[in-house]
Amino acid sequence: MSMSVTEIRRGLAEGRFSSVEVTQDYLARIAQHNPVLNCFISVTDELALAQARQADADLANGNTQALTGVPIAHKDLFCTDGVRTSCGSRILDNFIAPYDATIIENFKRDGAVMLGKTNMDEFAMGSSNENSFYGSVANPWNIGHVPGGSSGGSAAAIAAGLAPGATGTDTGGSIRQPAALCGVTGIKPTYGRVSRYGMVAFASSLDQGGPFARSAEDCALLLQTMAGFDPRDSTSSEQAVPDYSAALGDGIEGLKIGLPKEYFSEGLDGRLAAVIETAVDELRKLGADIKEISLPNTSLSIPTYYVVAMAECSSNLSRFDGVRFGHRCADPVDLEDLYKRSRGEGFGEEVKRRILIGTYALSAGYYDAYYLKAQQLRRMIKDDFQTAFDSVDLILGPTTPEVAFEIGAKTDDPVSMYLQDIYTISLNLAGLPGISLPVGFVDGLPVGMQLIGNYFDESTLLGAAHSYQQVSDWHLQVPELAR
Ligand code: GLN
Repeated sequence: MSMSVTEIRRGLAEGRFSSVEVTQDYLARIAQHNPVLNCFISVTDELALAQARQADADLANGNTQALTGVPIAHKDLFCTDGVRTSCGSRILDNFIAPYDATIIENFKRDGAVMLGKTNMDEFAMGSSNENSFYGSVANPWNIGHVPGGSSGGSAAAIAAGLAPGATGTDTGGSIRQPAALCGVTGIKPTYGRVSRYGMVAFASSLDQGGPFARSAEDCALLLQTMAGFDPRDSTSSEQAVPDYSAALGDGIEGLKIGLPKEYFSEGLDGRLAAVIETAVDELRKLGADIKEISLPNTSLSIPTYYVVAMAECSSNLSRFDGVRFGHRCADPVDLEDLYKRSRGEGFGEEVKRRILIGTYALSAGYYDAYYLKAQQLRRMIKDDFQTAFDSVDLILGPTTPEVAFEIGAKTDDPVSMYLQDIYTISLNLAGLPGISLPVGFVDGLPVGMQLIGNYFDESTLLGAAHSYQQVSDWHLQVPELAR
């Protein structure tokens, strides 16, 4: 089964099936495939069926909201009232959230059914989902390969037909990169578009939630539910949320699209470049005006990100101390022992690496050399984009430099892992929105194309992606196990 959110909404409205039936179908598929794919950390079957029954009653009474009865999966770093919120970490393995994140409330308000919580790299730190306390997620296109990270469970769940829509978060690429590697569509909105309240913080100035689905059309529906001002998040934007579905028809004709020459240089697998070029030809046929541009500071984005993200994470993760949340070591002899052993036992290797580097970068004497410098470079990267947007409406490039690699291939080489985010990370530093959509295959594995928009211009991104998906069928392809 590979129904889209749009198809499920239509089927429910026309009474062709009930929400309980659709939900049971997805729960059965999860039971069948999760032992191999490991997309879900928690499956909330009872809650899902209770919500589905309520949705069916609402549908019968005509009391419907935008997503009434549609099953959705949530990345396990959104707090869910009464449901474990582990963040992929041992330190939160026993943490039952006492409240809902704003976006979870929004999905409830709009009638969605929660299937469960998806697997992820611990505290969203990673590009392959191999850093999860709950084990790696397998890529549904080839189970020996990674699904990407950190929202790998959500992306793989969509690809495998275990959910029609899912949430994720993107700090440096964690929606777009796994969307690309799993052949699904995912959008990272403008920083501030979606509330971060109740979303466990990794790097607060970069983190942003967004949806995954099979198509841009479905992403428009899910983003509509997620977006909006939230007084509980001081960085959330008061800008009005447009009607994303209505904007899908705006299309691509006449749009000026820039191809950064830095994105098509060495480092990009030539086979991916060829696939992207074919997609660019398609956009040209749809009336896009394509030209080359330059984002000269692209190569600085990874070092800049890894100073900013690690500094912020070292501060954010100090709250996990064995006192207030999650894992506590056995028989501490004093407070210091409690902190040290609870954190030592609770955090995995990558999280520890980042806390150490971040603490170092923020320490007296190094702050100016690293953190302040990184903030200056961040401004230069942002300025590059603003210069580009003086002459183009959208920027286009690959989402990742290569297709999904084998599980274990990069675990001993953090720097090569970090390089996976070369095309995605600069958007987070600048706060810009980006969408990844499938545009072909290399070695039987999906290739993602990224479109980058100006601030709060998610509508243009979704409209352009939708136009492409009207004339292509890459987004409709499903792996063998989902047929
Ligand atoms: N891969 C990047 C990292 O490891 C980005 C992760 C993310 O976006 N959450 O930090």
